[in-house]
Amino acid sequence: MPITELDQRLTGQIVLSNRTYERLRALTALGTRFPGTPGERAAQRFILDELRAAGLDPTIEEFEHLAWERGSASLSVTAPVTRKLLCISLAGAPSTPAGGIDGEILYLGNGTPAEFDRHKDAIRDRIVLVTSLAPRQECSPPRQCHRRTKYGRAVQYGAKAFLFMNSQPGMLPQAGSTRQNREGEIPAVTIPFEDGEVLKSLLKAGPVSVHLEATNRNYPHTTGNIVAELPGTDPDHVVLVGAHYDSHDNAVGAIDNGTGVVTVLELARLLSESGVRLRRTIRFVLFAVEEMASVGSSFYVNRHRDHLDQIDLFMNIDGIGQQGAKTFDTQGFDDAADFILDVAKDIDYEMTIPNPAFSGDSLAFVMGGVPTAAMKGSKLRSLFGHQNLSTGEDRGWGHTSADTFDKVEQHALHEAAIIAALTLIRAADHPTRMARTRTKAEVDAILRETGMDTVLSFMQWPSIDVRPKE
Ligand SMILES: [Zn+2]
Repeated sequence: MPITELDQRLTGQIVLSNRTYERLRALTALGTRFPGTPGERAAQRFILDELRAAGLDPTIEEFEHLAWERGSASLSVTAPVTRKLLCISLAGAPSTPAGGIDGEILYLGNGTPAEFDRHKDAIRDRIVLVTSLAPRQECSPPRQCHRRTKYGRAVQYGAKAFLFMNSQPGMLPQAGSTRQNREGEIPAVTIPFEDGEVLKSLLKAGPVSVHLEATNRNYPHTTGNIVAELPGTDPDHVVLVGAHYDSHDNAVGAIDNGTGVVTVLELARLLSESGVRLRRTIRFVLFAVEEMASVGSSFYVNRHRDHLDQIDLFMNIDGIGQQGAKTFDTQGFDDAADFILDVAKDIDYEMTIPNPAFSGDSLAFVMGGVPTAAMKGSKLRSLFGHQNLSTGEDRGWGHTSADTFDKVEQHALHEAAIIAALTLIRAADHPTRMARTRTKAEVDAILRETGMDTVLSFMQWPSIDVRPKE
């Protein structure tokens, strides 16, 4: 279908009301939304209130997971000079033994598979230092150079501790998790670019020793995914649109993923208030605990394992604050890709399908065999004429304390909301099933062909069962 009256109405409302942007201002004012913090509870209330105001009847699907609380962390160079560095623990990392640990640094560059392989035999009992960068040429799929894969390799090769250096300047440690729903095996801290550069400079002259102390606490915690539905005329078929609402504890997560939360809330409000009834039921899901390795989405997939074939498409919206055009990553599902390209043609918007990234909450659904389209930045023609400047090899402000409201551009949010709305309408109203649920064997083939099987084994992911039944 070409542009319809409904498309025009929603697009106009998104831009003219500027509501997504103003709701993001309010959401980020609540502070961090890390699991177990008051901000997490406040965000849940915020989301419930918004969905109710939109005329929907949200519920919380609770689950218990292993939460994590940061204690103190300190890192000092002990030789050849003595000097303190800035650090914070990575989420899920254990405490060091009392009195801390001492060790020699081994710098493995960007921690690509090749770099780990080259130094495999030197890793045992060393403290491994890697950057946060995932260079495109050397990391296929990009998850080969995800922090958790680097951590998994360091653990597997016998490292004593893991230092994760931000590849971007600004004295900002880049937070992140170590494992899914269980404690990491070795202590892990993240340090700013500048302090990583200090270590790299010292290493040029010879061995560098450090002392690391960290105290952290893992504890069971109950939270939940927030779910609301807009019924379709065919209640057996669902399009699920989701965004995670948690952030790291050092961040208000404006881009990651305040942008996704307010976009999904805006879609819920606009479609509910429009009064239209599309074919499929639209299920809005705001996921908890994504930042601890997609825990909330994994519990969602696990809980609904017997009904995953009702979900004709999962549309994930995460970290869309960057300038410029949007597209969707369909994670190796060719029929989902065809659908997205049809939408692009329909709305006269350029989209090409990127290589599968298997990032964030998408992965749990892909592993469950559910066709997935995850919104991503693209270099093509943007609605508002802005260029996407990100290389995609690093997180930018993401996972740092600088991921704040001021970093999000109104027009970037508007563009994302418009493209999400027009795509969602077409997914919900598509006359036939646009993509089919995959079997376990088909999912395995996708994982094997893309190299994700290796990644998952290093990550030891998933800890929560998200595989389709045979
Ligand atoms: Zn995110």
